[in-house]
This record gives sequence, structure tokens and C-alpha cells, in this order.
Amino acid sequence: MSEENSKRDFIRDIIAEDLASGKHETPVTRFPPEPNGYLHIGHAKAICLSFGIAQENSTAGARCHLRFDDTNPVKEEQEYVDSIQEDIKWLGWDWGENLYFASDYFEYFYDCAVHLIKNGKAFVDEQSSEEIRAAHGSVNKPGKESPYRDRPIEESLDLFVRMRAGEVKDGEAVLRAKVDMASPNMHLRDPIIYRVLHETHHNTGDQWSIYPMYDFAHPLEDAKERITHSLCTLEFEVHRPIYDWVIEHCPVPSKPRQIEFSRLSLNYTIVSKRKLLQLVEGGKVDGWDDPRMPTLSGARRRGFPPEAIRAFCEDVGITKFNGVTEMARLENEVRRVLNTTAPRRMAVLDPLKLVLVNMAEDHFEEVEVQNNPEDGSAGTRKLPLGRELWIERDDFMVEAPKKYFRLAPGRVVRLRGGYIVRYVDHVSDQESGEVSEVHCEFLPDTIGKPPPEGVKCKAAIHWVSAAHAEDAEIRLYDRLFDHESPDAAEGGFLSVLNPDSLRIVEGAKIEPGLGEESKGYLCQFERLGYFCADSRYHDPGTKVVFNRTIGLRDSWAKKRG
Ligand code: ATP
Ligand code: MG
Repeated sequence: MSEENSKRDFIRDIIAEDLASGKHETPVTRFPPEPNGYLHIGHAKAICLSFGIAQENSTAGARCHLRFDDTNPVKEEQEYVDSIQEDIKWLGWDWGENLYFASDYFEYFYDCAVHLIKNGKAFVDEQSSEEIRAAHGSVNKPGKESPYRDRPIEESLDLFVRMRAGEVKDGEAVLRAKVDMASPNMHLRDPIIYRVLHETHHNTGDQWSIYPMYDFAHPLEDAKERITHSLCTLEFEVHRPIYDWVIEHCPVPSKPRQIEFSRLSLNYTIVSKRKLLQLVEGGKVDGWDDPRMPTLSGARRRGFPPEAIRAFCEDVGITKFNGVTEMARLENEVRRVLNTTAPRRMAVLDPLKLVLVNMAEDHFEEVEVQNNPEDGSAGTRKLPLGRELWIERDDFMVEAPKKYFRLAPGRVVRLRGGYIVRYVDHVSDQESGEVSEVHCEFLPDTIGKPPPEGVKCKAAIHWVSAAHAEDAEIRLYDRLFDHESPDAAEGGFLSVLNPDSLRIVEGAKIEPGLGEESKGYLCQFERLGYFCADSRYHDPGTKVVFNRTIGLRDSWAKKRG
């Protein structure tokens, strides 16, 4: 699937044709995030498409620009500019020298606007925003032309200069393109292309008091950077006529072409920066990089490998049809990658004491455990083993059904990488009735060997030496929403947050040395899933905090039946 030549879709076909026909020699694409939030998994699809096309056509000199579409001073921040760059790099893409800011083109946008006014293609409208809205018409009803539409060019020019100079208050005037108030396409009904905003911009400070609108600025940004193929999501299809109008009527150095593809939507989550911001600001999550968030920084903190996200985007493919993709597909890619890359370690989340009654109290030995039991290629490590061990509470049952092959009265089980042990008896708490200790005898000479004659051993359980184990906090994550399409929930997405999406387990026991691993360290806890040392709370050797990246199997598939 990752074969270069198998990546075929209608956009790559168009580009191949343009190269073959000589229309273009060098494809140039761009990824144009607005720095008003962190990138999410939907953006990954757009990133992999535009950067992927540049990479596949590198022999033709192709490139992909990272351009911040930072034309709105109100919601944009440096924090977002930084995080977006970090996330794209993490995903494995490189814009090289091609880092641009739309705000660096403010002077160019302004010149284009003046050009339009001088050519009778734009005018300053002094109606209030309510009046403009009321005259906009509807799908079935044409709009009404503004009384200012045919004012003298000189008058518009003069007013526009004064808008720039800061002499006009917010909302008192706008610049509108003169297109067609009767157009069936609402975006062509004399769209506003500049508004007055007395706001400080993260890049240009207080230099400007007018700011261009997306429909005007975006095509000019593309043209200025000589983008050949401007790839965006389907909701921009209805904006394409105004995109083309701007290119046709402004002094542009090149003529880019906009092509739309379908957005990525995932079930059980939301991909909208605006809504994700609500979760962050409402304190519903632990920041943009909360491991439950569909953001790229959340995925990273959770332990999702970037190659899994890239493989997922490739697998989803590029089409013109909007649909909902199963979160399980992304999770399966994560499992597929981690299965071959994550070393195996032992940890016990819900510890129960196991005492090997036939082992001396001061006896300790080292057993050699495979780092990857399936093929052994990842080598081995030595783990201490003594009389007292921790095992998982649910690996012991007082009254076990027939199909339960783990530890129970009368049963025998193998300690993974160690001895086979046989049940002797157990101790229960008098008040709660809860089992507090299980006693077993180990069968000598069974490490790395099949069970002795007549002994039936059908399972291996994980364990850690009680004398050597380190304490850890384990964070178990589940889906952030327990509704398949949170956006469609009756009470809105905030009403279907999964109350069990984070469970913090304190007092877990992990094998010695594991707590020294650095932030971001990823491994499989045998039989439990994949886990990653938290990049915020884990402090090597001091406070051990692991996130569960993902379970070994899709537990939701089972729940759904
Ligand atoms: P959001 O709705 O989350 O705010 P946006 O489209 O407003 O997303 P931008 O920063 O403007 O965010 O997006 C940058 C690029 O990413 C755009 O070209 C947009 O088409 C693309 N993009 C955004 N969301 C998705 C998605 N879910 N699937 C594919 N591409 C997306
Ligand atoms: Mg946008």
C-alpha cells in the first residue's frame, strides 16, 4: 500500500496530466493553516496530501509551502504558530525554506484592493453590517445592491485610504468586491473583502487597522507564492468562483488552480479547532495535547507513532465524497506499527501478592526474559525473581470457570519467562472477603522448559518481584465521547463526553528500571497494551506516569457486538 506508484487519486491524476501536457513543469502545493488552534487528525490528511505530492514529484523540483493564513488578528497566537510547526515536523514532513506568513503580504493585498477600486471592481460600503446582511437576499431571492455601489471611484479610494490610516471605526465601513448581487452563488454577491479592525496582530502589531477577508486574501497568497495546485476541502467548492474572480481581476504573478477533496471525519470524536478550543477552555481536557484529544499533539503524548498516522491518511485516500471514517482504523494502524517496534516490559496494574512458599525468604535469582516473546529478535533482559511477587488481581479466581486457564485453586500457571507455579492456598481479608495473598509452590527446573509429565499448564501470566518493583501511576484512556457522532448529539458535543475517558490508576507495580525511562518512552506492558511515559507528568526516577496508548485488541468492537 505504501508503494509510491499505488498512490493514485483524482488530484494526483490532474497533476500528472498537467506535467505531461507541459502546463506546469514544477508542481507547487501548500498547507495553509490558520494559527487559531492546534492541528488535528483532519489536518494530517491535508498535510499528507500536499506534502506527499511535493515529495513524490521531487525530481521535478516540486515543493510544498507551509503558509500561515494569519489574516485575522482576533484569534491568532504565536503559541499556535509554534505548535503547528512542531506537529508537522513530528509527522515527518519538511517545508525546507518554504515558510510563509500571509500577514507578510498585507501590503500586496492592499495594492490589489486599490487596483480593484481603480478599475471599478470594488467600493467602500458604509452600510451597517445589519443593513448589508438584510440586503444579501437568500438562495431563492436575489440580493439588493448597496446604495454606495456606484459611488465615484475617487470617493472609495479616499475612504479606503482613511480606513487604512485608522480614521474609521470598527464596523463603520467595509470594502466590497463588485461582482453580482443576483448571483445564485451567495459568495459572489458583492462579498466583503476588507473590514476595519483595530486589533493588534501577532506578526504586524498595530501597523494595520484593516484586514482582508479569506476569499480575497487566499487566492492572492497562492498566486504570490506561485502555487500551481491549491488543495483544500470540499466546503471551499462554493468559494471557487470568487477565488477565480480575484485571480482574474487582480494583478497576479501566476494563476493557481483550486481543487477540493473531502474532509476527514472520524467517529467518536470531533475535528474542529473551534470546538476543541471549547474543550480546552472549559477545562474538559488537560490542554490541547490531552492524550484523548484528536489533535496531533494529543496523539503524540498518547504514544501514537507518526508513521501510523501517515499510513492511516494514505489508507483513507483522497476522494470527493464526504464520509465518516472509523476511529478503529486509526487505532489498528497504531497497533500494527507498535506491534513491531515497541519492546515488551512487565507491569501490574492491580497488584495481588503471590508468595512462593517453597522459596527461601532471602533467595533472589535473575531470570532472562524475552523482550519480544513472539520472535525473540529484540533480545532479552534480566529480571529479579524472589519469594514475593506481584501478579494481576484478575489473574487469580477463587471459583474459576472451566475455560479460565490462569491461577485458581488446583491450577498451575507459568510466570512469563520464569517458573511454572502450582496453587497451594490463599488468604482473604476477613471483612471484605477480598483475596489478599495467593500462595503457590514453584516447580524447580521449569524455566524455559515445557511442564513436567502430567502437569497441565495452559497460560502464562505477567509478574514483577515485590522487593524490586517500582510504583507507578497509570493513566487509562478511553474515547473522549461515548457517542458515535458527537456533533449530531441532541444536547451538543459537550453533552456526550465519556465520563470514563480517563481513569487514573495509582499504585501500579512496574519492573525495575522502567521508571528511569525518559518522557515519551514507549513499550508494551505484556498482556495489557501499549504504554507511553507521559511527556508532562512523568519525571524519570521520581514520579512515574505512563499513559495507555492503546489496548492490544479493539475492545470497542467487542462492546458493539
Ligand atoms: P477547523 O474546522 O478545525 O478550524 P479549518 O479548515 O478552519 O479547520 P485551517 O487551519 O483553515 O482549519 O485548515 C488548514 C487546511 O487544513 C485547510 O486547507 C483545510 O481544508 C484542511 N483541513 C481542515 N480540516 C480538515 C479535515 N477534517 N480533513 C481534511 N483537511 C482538513
Ligand atoms: Mg479555515
